Amino acid sequence: MRKSLYIIGLSVLVFSCTSQKNIKKNSYRPKTAVSQAKPVNVAAVEKQKPHVIKDHGVEFFTTNIADITKNDNTASYGSIVSAKPAGFKVVKTYFPAIAQNFRQKYLILHYTVLPDDKSVEVLTKQNVSAHYLVNNLGDNEIYQLVDENKRSYHAGVSAWRADKNLNDTSIGIEIVNPGYKSDATGKKIFQPFSDEQIKKVAALAKDIVMRYNIPPTNVLAHSDIAPTRKQDPGPLFPWKKLYDEYQIGMWYDEAVKQTFIVNAETEVSTKYNEPSFVFVVQTALQKFGYDLFPNGKWDDATKRTIEVFQYHFRPQNYDGVIDAETWAILQALNQKYPVK
Ligand SMILES: [Zn+2]
Repeated sequence: MRKSLYIIGLSVLVFSCTSQKNIKKNSYRPKTAVSQAKPVNVAAVEKQKPHVIKDHGVEFFTTNIADITKNDNTASYGSIVSAKPAGFKVVKTYFPAIAQNFRQKYLILHYTVLPDDKSVEVLTKQNVSAHYLVNNLGDNEIYQLVDENKRSYHAGVSAWRADKNLNDTSIGIEIVNPGYKSDATGKKIFQPFSDEQIKKVAALAKDIVMRYNIPPTNVLAHSDIAPTRKQDPGPLFPWKKLYDEYQIGMWYDEAVKQTFIVNAETEVSTKYNEPSFVFVVQTALQKFGYDLFPNGKWDDATKRTIEVFQYHFRPQNYDGVIDAETWAILQALNQKYPVK
């Protein structure tokens, strides 16, 4: 039965591709695919197929399989997970399809609020985790805690632009850091990261962003995707350095910021308490990506959202109040990184 099906299949192939000379026996493609498209050089396609290797029963792609200039976020390599259906054989005759992409769309950065040993213990033994943990021991190790293909529990209730529950679509990096303490005035005082930690995070982020083709708009702080709940990694995390020295994440252009600053000064000084101005600022924050509902009021959610925006893009002063510089930077960013 199997052999007769093969012969039928082969004859369909020969019938549909009579103009092709270089046809291998094993290069059969479904009739529809061949008949709808322009003539395909099947032999050339076979030759380009990425090499699959097998190690301890696990199959791996060793090269990228897709053209990212034609399909957004489709580069693919690494281990292949397949079903083992009882009584049947899964074959990869038609593997891989072009129409696929990675589930990993975001890179989210955190701090642990715990020392090194406790960070490992909590992130491996309790109901929270991250794909990677960057210690503060000054060595050259980065700990992997979760397979990149699996969800780790780092983001919680979260949203950015049209996406929600970012555990489903992100890679999480935790960095050992004690977090903040509030001073007598209630201001949050944060602790710096070491240079070694930043070098590790930058190298790791670069590798992840390149492999999954993660866009700059999707490299974010935990506080960006959960502004009313989270502060990490806080205003001392050097986002500008990552952008300038490693081309990771978003940053505004200073010259563009300057084009907005005069008007921003006027608006902030004359319209600060006008609901229509509050609404415009809230809409700009929402457009940029924050999960904020514009209502024309400087309410707690809005202040918290401005504060986390300042952590990321204007860390010199993070009081949660929209001043002219913060407002100009937000507008410059919206111009540079529009929603597609
Ligand atoms: Zn976090």
